[in-house]
Amino acid sequence: MPPVEETVRSIGQEFIIDGEFIGGSEIEAGHINVTYVARYLQMDGSERRYILQCINGYVFKDPVAVVRNVERVTQHIAAKLEGSGEQYLKMYPARRGGHFYEDAKGRVWRCYNFIEGCRSYDVVESTEQAYEAASAFGRFQDLVSDLDVASLVETIPSFHHTPMRFARLMDRAADDPIERLAGVVEEVQFLKDRKELGAELVSMMKGGLLPVRVTHNDTKLNNVMMDERSGQAVCVIDLDTVMPGLAAYDFGDLVRTATSAAAEDEQDLSKVEMRMPMFEALARGYIKACPSLTAAEIHSLVTGCKVITLEVAIRFLTDYLEGDLYFKTEREGQNLDRVRVQITLLKQMEEREAEMEEIVRRFADSESCELTSN
Ligand code: ADP
Ligand code: MG
Ligand code: MG
Repeated sequence: MPPVEETVRSIGQEFIIDGEFIGGSEIEAGHINVTYVARYLQMDGSERRYILQCINGYVFKDPVAVVRNVERVTQHIAAKLEGSGEQYLKMYPARRGGHFYEDAKGRVWRCYNFIEGCRSYDVVESTEQAYEAASAFGRFQDLVSDLDVASLVETIPSFHHTPMRFARLMDRAADDPIERLAGVVEEVQFLKDRKELGAELVSMMKGGLLPVRVTHNDTKLNNVMMDERSGQAVCVIDLDTVMPGLAAYDFGDLVRTATSAAAEDEQDLSKVEMRMPMFEALARGYIKACPSLTAAEIHSLVTGCKVITLEVAIRFLTDYLEGDLYFKTEREGQNLDRVRVQITLLKQMEEREAEMEEIVRRFADSESCELTSN
């Protein structure tokens, strides 16, 4: 048996799943975990697939807490969707108890059902797709809106504490550890000028104006499984970062990653464009699918887009000043290119803010959320 199959087979044995192992392979999509698909022959001659995933122990310092969070969320959703005919994510129990297996090297594994008949996309191809993806994240948000946030652990502490990220950037700009500051004075100033923006959501949350919810925190298009035939969203996956958080960050990150057609490290900044029809489709899908959003939350969505874009720019620039330690780079200056893409996008959001606010207001007011333009 080839080594990959052998790995999949032996890990699969650690979980309580039905059937006889007949094959396995790695899924290359995804950048964080190592993911395998395992095939099992059932008693009736049919084949069933499972996902076996090794959690990235570098990103997640406490992988067992990650599994516990995912367990809470998947069980909460399953209780609502059981018998509905819909596909949703579930984790299988491990033979030694719990929902994970820790191997000899201390790596933590878990096993999911395979969401069948679907595929995920890396780049948005149409407004319909944007709408579907946003609906899926909105639906997810809505399904967990009555789940107690205190039951989840903050697996990446201060993940979206933008002021803390800002403070760290200022520290690096002050000590300039590898003498890169001279080349990025303009970028540092741009971000510095937006210190107040960075604090907006966190202070609204602290003031009790925005509810802390269970949020997804990795609202990328490729974490939505779409029906291969109909193109409709089936469910969201990749729940490792579910944590207490704000809806505005989830929506904002979806907008940040799905409205511009340019790559995150594009060097030709003229390609970076805040596509309003995409934004419109995202806002419509998200708001319509999540009726539990409060008026204040809906009002915070556009701020969320700006704050998360600022936050990501801050993180890339901090990493650049620290010597590219956190984000993987393949060429000199790649992190700086990433900073510039985010800054360009943020500038466009600022220019089009009134338009964005108007769209959100329109969908919040109309229950049907019909598109009036495209
Ligand atoms: P990462 O954190 O590495 O992005 P994901 O959980 O998103 O990990 O998994 C990586 C890829 O594996 C996904 O993009 C998807 O293609 C596939 N995948 C993950 N879970 C499932 C599942 N339950 N059913 C089908 N495919 C899945
Ligand atoms: Mg993923
Ligand atoms: Mg992930």
